Amino acid sequence: MNLKHLTDKELVKETKRLVQSEREITTEVLHHIKEIDSRKLFSDYGHSSMMSYAIKELNYSESAAARRIQSARMLGAMPEIENKINDGTLSLSNLSKAAGFFNRENIKEPSKRKAILKEIENKSARECEKTLLEMSPTKPLPRESVKIVTPEFHQLKINVSESTLKHMNDAKELLGKHAINDEFMDDLSKEALENIKRKKFKITDKPRVTESTSRIASNQTKRDVLKTSNGVCEKCGSLFMLQFDHREPWALGGKSEASNMRLLCFHCNQRARIRSRL
Ligand SMILES: [Zn+2]
Repeated sequence: MNLKHLTDKELVKETKRLVQSEREITTEVLHHIKEIDSRKLFSDYGHSSMMSYAIKELNYSESAAARRIQSARMLGAMPEIENKINDGTLSLSNLSKAAGFFNRENIKEPSKRKAILKEIENKSARECEKTLLEMSPTKPLPRESVKIVTPEFHQLKINVSESTLKHMNDAKELLGKHAINDEFMDDLSKEALENIKRKKFKITDKPRVTESTSRIASNQTKRDVLKTSNGVCEKCGSLFMLQFDHREPWALGGKSEASNMRLLCFHCNQRARIRSRL
């Protein structure tokens, strides 16, 4: 595109017009993201979350995806902010910072949320961060992160409470480890994972065969389904809040037998429910 022929005045005017339509399109994108999110449609494309869908299917970077999803959810909850997004009074970056703040400080009341959004209107990202910090009743903890530091290693930064640290130290002593490092964390997480699986999927050394006479599958059926599904969501491969689901719904006569059961994560399960109502 060659714009050399434009006068300075025309160039400035055209740029402003384009930025305005860019904002309007962004709002339209937010509405679409909000709808895909509420239908859990990402599950049909094998994604475990809206975030994964936005990164892999819409080609957004992680931060661009997060800004849009958080803003879309905010727009869903507060439709009155649409004009402010359209005219640039509220940027996506400030909206997503506010969403994080509401979450952290557990601010749910619409009037409080509205008042806070008012405070960050027309502010730069830095000014917005400062305003939110000043409004924070508690001293915010340092940012948590997972960073790739070498092809094999990640650096994990998290804030832990006094009691969590004590539990970790006690586990370290019992396992005979000398430091809270990768080796210890690997041992601890593997142990925890096994325990969670045992509880969730009723894995036992002496399986009892029980008859399934209800909506709830027998423990043996659950173990069979677990084996055939490799312990992951059938649709997206995620582990997030895995649940046993009837392929043919129980209400429509579907049996609680292994052939009619599958493992679905929370979102894919919700999507299946939404689809069955369509
Ligand atoms: Zn899933």
